[in-house]
Amino acid sequence: MTTFRWGSATDTGRIRRANEDALLAVDGLFVVADGMGGHRAGEVASHLAVETLQDGFDQAGTDVLVRAVERANREVVERSIADPELAGMGTTIVAMALVDADGRDAIGVVNVGDSRLYLLSDGELHQITEDHSLVATMVRQGRITESEAAVHPQRNILTRALGIDGSVLVDSWEMLPVVGDRYLLCSDGLFNEVDDARIAATLRRLADPDEACRELVRLANESGGRDNITCVMVDVVDDTGRDTSVDIASRVRVAHTGGDAIVEGGTDPAKSADHPRRSASIGASLTWRVGAFVAAVFAIIGLAFGFVWWTGTRTYYVGVDDQENVTIYRGKPGGVLWIQPEVAEVTSVTLSEVPAASRDAVIAGVEEPSLDAAHRYIDNLIEQMASSSTTSTTTSSTTSTTSTVGTSTTAG
Ligand code: MN
Repeated sequence: MTTFRWGSATDTGRIRRANEDALLAVDGLFVVADGMGGHRAGEVASHLAVETLQDGFDQAGTDVLVRAVERANREVVERSIADPELAGMGTTIVAMALVDADGRDAIGVVNVGDSRLYLLSDGELHQITEDHSLVATMVRQGRITESEAAVHPQRNILTRALGIDGSVLVDSWEMLPVVGDRYLLCSDGLFNEVDDARIAATLRRLADPDEACRELVRLANESGGRDNITCVMVDVVDDTGRDTSVDIASRVRVAHTGGDAIVEGGTDPAKSADHPRRSASIGASLTWRVGAFVAAVFAIIGLAFGFVWWTGTRTYYVGVDDQENVTIYRGKPGGVLWIQPEVAEVTSVTLSEVPAASRDAVIAGVEEPSLDAAHRYIDNLIEQMASSSTTSTTTSSTTSTTSTVGTSTTAG
């Protein structure tokens, strides 16, 4: 008879206000779910998924586990439709369970999203699940390296999750239980903070599963704790005298993985024919986290544009155009980024008529907070010109300024 010993730990981390991860560790069924969604909706999604999986699972086989995940997906979708406050929620799920495989014990494994299942066997750490994330796809396509993925700004973007679409593609594996094997289920809050070498070292060092889980959580917090951290550890303590010499490759009896969600240029038509639903659910799941990200980016860009527009257009200045006419511009002397000053009014006062004391200032551009203030500045210039020049020049200048300046002069 296959028996397990297990332990677990979960923590909010040092930045997040709530823990949206959920876990289950009961004899024969071990689950980690990492929920996402605004205002604690992620918490609802992850717990709902774990509860539904537990309800729908009866150890009859890996296919039962897969169907339980599909049901959990529908539950999350229906709940988010029924409750507007939960709209857009989703969750990852990774689970392992003792199942029957043709009359013998096996370990069934299912995964959707970027939580992980690792196996420590003979001191070596192996990642069993594939992440359904944008960066994992890019790594598999050879576009970025593992270490680039670990620090990639878009490493949160999922290509698959529960709660996005009515149907979901579930990856599954069937493993041989072997005494001494140690399994670790975890959310990305662990492996984004603690690299595989340190995870492996901890799994080798601490025999007690609870203690090892607590230590992993501690390490993740020590490295930043930027996300919720959840670990479930399962040791195979009895396997009814199975052949322990099987290597890792033959330990995996069956594997059904959906492959990469993002297919470049549709190079594999057979693959997409196998999974006709894939493109729809991918579009939706990408929209989910990407949507929030894009909205945030647009908001920031919008604010930046608004600020530049505001500083670039709200003020006026009195300057000189290329015909050496004193001119009122809207904007800043020299412009602000792409916003060039616009001519508001051209006067027929020429630079040579401007009193010498003000000439350099006008050439540089005299900033005024409003059009009226710019008018007053020009009126002032004209007054100075009148007191230091002939009447005819003044009259000529005044009458030939543009109508707005004339109006303003009259009104003032
Ligand atoms: Mn997470």
